Amino acid sequence: MAYFYSLLFTANPELRAMFPLAMDGQRRALSAALARCAWSMDNPQSLHEYLAQLGRDHRKYGVQEQHYQVFGGTLASALRLINGSSWDQETAAAWHTAISHICSVMAAAAQDAAAEPPWWAAEVIRHERRCRDLAVLTLRPGEPFPYQPGQYLSVQVLQWPRVWRNYSIANAPRADGTLDLHIRAIPGGQVSTSLVQDTRAGDTVLLGPARGTMVADHSSARDILCIAGGTGFAPIKAVIEGLAAQPGRRAARRIRLFVGARRRPDLYDLPELARLQSQCAQLEVITALSDDPGARGPHGLLHTVVRQQASWQDCDVFVSGPPGMVRATLRVLAHRASDEHLYCDPHGEAAARRPA
Ligand SMILES: Cc1cc2nc3c(=O)[nH]c(=O)nc-3n(C[C@H](O)[C@H](O)[C@H](O)COP(=O)(O)OP(=O)(O)OC[C@H]3O[C@@H](n4cnc5c(N)ncnc54)[C@H](O)[C@@H]3O)c2cc1C
Repeated sequence: MAYFYSLLFTANPELRAMFPLAMDGQRRALSAALARCAWSMDNPQSLHEYLAQLGRDHRKYGVQEQHYQVFGGTLASALRLINGSSWDQETAAAWHTAISHICSVMAAAAQDAAAEPPWWAAEVIRHERRCRDLAVLTLRPGEPFPYQPGQYLSVQVLQWPRVWRNYSIANAPRADGTLDLHIRAIPGGQVSTSLVQDTRAGDTVLLGPARGTMVADHSSARDILCIAGGTGFAPIKAVIEGLAAQPGRRAARRIRLFVGARRRPDLYDLPELARLQSQCAQLEVITALSDDPGARGPHGLLHTVVRQQASWQDCDVFVSGPPGMVRATLRVLAHRASDEHLYCDPHGEAAARRPA
């Protein structure tokens, strides 16, 4: 990836300004995107949806149609040079097909989204510090921001130009268009620290378009299992709000929500949990605390608590949280839940992902 970007900027120095100063995250993101394309090749529908979202999302960087050709040509050159003598005609043809497909789906999706803003300016209208390293922000986008409960968006703060980070939207769409984000500050983290410590009501942030596949199937009548660790509660809360707002008998689907935290004070959104329960009779909440042996209720890491339950084969399952928690939970669910009905957008690039 480093070699690819060197080639890109040497031949097209004007493109450097589209990228952040520190390129390590960018290189990881491109590598992860290519890997994701490779393992989705046997699922054209999922690959298409992923690339289309990526194409719409790339409008926020200022990517234009002609850039796709430059990207594809440079990537092919970098691969050829890196692969040396193992680069043969067959490999070149395979990469050519893959790169052309990636670029054409992304460019077409960007074109289709031309009527919508490439990014949204949003005012921070509330900033609540729930604990030392966690804040709940309420944002009001300047223009309508379309999304579905369970999706995430990307945020750029003024302190870190061209650096975008993903955050889950913590509510179902509201009449006033406001959005909540639950942000945990990572030690040394650029954007999360700015959002938790340096952001105030009245500040402006930029938002990229909504992405993600952790969206409820409202045609389903199956019961629902939600497993949320830390700020992974944010998209799960949005999904439950969305389900509770569904008219008719499907609203009666039973929902079991497991929420994990270290200690009780880390359950930063207890009043909202209580509100959800009062508004949604079919919701059952189980809190699992890992480092609080004196507390009431189940003890242990979320995946060990979930493991003690019966099978979830007939449920739609939503899993969200830090990469380690998501990985461990997916392992536990491997024989207990159906892959087809499993929805998951891990809060970290390193998490093991399974297509929804
Ligand atoms: C789909 C998705 C949804 C997300 N939703 C949320 C959300 O709702 N709330 C939320 O707080 N975060 C969420 N995240 C994580 C978020 O995108 C950032 O990764 C996180 O805020 C750190 O960004 P940063 O700029 O502060 O840190 P960076 O400057 O990117 O990283 C600083 C250091 O921290 C390490 N690091 C980065 N991320 C993490 C992490 N998650 N845990 C531990 N170490 C880390 C890096 O490797 C680096 O060494 C989500 C991520 C994804 C992929």
